[in-house]
Amino acid sequence: MRFCSACGGPVEQRVPPLDDRPRHVCPACGAIHYLNPKIVVGSACTFGDRLLICRRAIEPRRGLWTIPAGYMELGESAEEGARREAWEEARAVILIEGLLAVYSLPRIDQVQLLYRARLTVPEVAAGPESLEVRLIDWQDIPWDELAFRTVGWVLRRALELRGTGGPLAPVGNPPAEGPGGSPDGD
Ligand SMILES: [Zn+2]
Repeated sequence: MRFCSACGGPVEQRVPPLDDRPRHVCPACGAIHYLNPKIVVGSACTFGDRLLICRRAIEPRRGLWTIPAGYMELGESAEEGARREAWEEARAVILIEGLLAVYSLPRIDQVQLLYRARLTVPEVAAGPESLEVRLIDWQDIPWDELAFRTVGWVLRRALELRGTGGPLAPVGNPPAEGPGGSPDGD
């Protein structure tokens, strides 16, 4: 970051008071611009005993296979993001069953939340970011042509848990009322 998104002035790298690391600080308006990891949401989606995979139409890793996944948007829940990505990349309508895995990738400043999901109908089609989409048998996973390491990791996990109830972490938000309340007070 070179310029302040609040006032347009040049920013400086500086450790703010009470902080422990340099931040982008705007000397003109005092804004501190925190940079934090991005959240990627996605899902291993099945219909019956077949798995949905997508061949990427975009860089990076164009032409390699992946599961529907992408950056979470502001204003949506992680599960809404995963459902949106399934629709955008594979025109797939999914029901999320639970969380398969959380991967922290500090080298690329990402946290990935990857779910297990079921397709409500087997109709799928390539969205603009996919060259093609397929429902494949598990033994046909193209392990050597996967776009990202995390896709391989989560598909191994999904394969281990195939046909079982889990363990999957529950998804969604805990009820706001009741003992303990919610940590953010709403
Ligand atoms: Zn500023």
